[in-house]
Amino acid sequence: MAVAAAPQVQTQGPGYYRIMVGDFEVTALLDGTHAFPIDTVVEGMSGKEIEANLARDFLTPPVQGSINAFLINTGSKLVLIDAGAGDLYGACCGHLADNIRAAGYRPEQVDQILLTHMHKDHIGGVSAKGTMLFPNAVLRASKAEADYWLNAANKAKAPPFLGSFFDAAIAAAAPYQSANRFEPFEGDVELAPGIVSMQTPGHTPGHVSYVVRSQGQMLIVWGDLVHVAALQLQKPDTTVKYDSNAASARHSRKDVFGEVVRDRSVVAAAHIAFPGLGHLRRQGNRFEWVPVNYEAEPGKPGGH
Ligand SMILES: [Zn+2]
Ligand SMILES: [Zn+2]
Repeated sequence: MAVAAAPQVQTQGPGYYRIMVGDFEVTALLDGTHAFPIDTVVEGMSGKEIEANLARDFLTPPVQGSINAFLINTGSKLVLIDAGAGDLYGACCGHLADNIRAAGYRPEQVDQILLTHMHKDHIGGVSAKGTMLFPNAVLRASKAEADYWLNAANKAKAPPFLGSFFDAAIAAAAPYQSANRFEPFEGDVELAPGIVSMQTPGHTPGHVSYVVRSQGQMLIVWGDLVHVAALQLQKPDTTVKYDSNAASARHSRKDVFGEVVRDRSVVAAAHIAFPGLGHLRRQGNRFEWVPVNYEAEPGKPGGH
């Protein structure tokens, strides 16, 4: 009897992945993947070097880059760190809200959205067409970040390729501002029990990372300290065209690399292959990414 050839399915499972950090449940959420324009964006590495480093990680361009966000349930607060691109990157992306639901949560349960920075692949998903997608959340970012991106006067002084980034940030934040639900913060401060901001400027003027601590375990949500792991772990001096201040971005990256190696912290990375959760291992001046071990039932007693 003839059996028809099965068509290829060409999709993945829902884009969420959970780990525990002490008593906190951390859910990595995929917004989507897109062809990352390595050849036009990476600076400080020759074309040959890029090719060799990609090949070393078994990659050939165009490399699909992940856009990850992280939902932290502390037991009393539900905190979303970054919110994906919303409708600003096209059909590849903007799947954050669907993946929140697939992960067993609802956007209206989120108490607080913490942005690492206001680039459109991080702030785009907080609202759509002038409406808050997280209607009960307070939106927070560093004051330096808000002062820069939410001021249209800065757009005129910035390189033209950044113009749409200003428009996107202003539009995404607007509904939260009108609802008095936008609260910038200054410095390294505790924003929810166990979640503290850490200034890591350079990629943008007010870029921050978030340090999450529970029961002696530590997670660093480092935003855009790394865009292409295959390149920037091999050569941490490598920057991207979108860095506001390349020297300062380099400095922040190296500082945090040193800290997470020393503390053996878990890293949550916006643009390392989904779920973007792992550890760094130092090899001389280079680093290696070690993805977290898989657990089918994180947080279940006896699951360890
Ligand atoms: Zn960015
Ligand atoms: Zn980004």
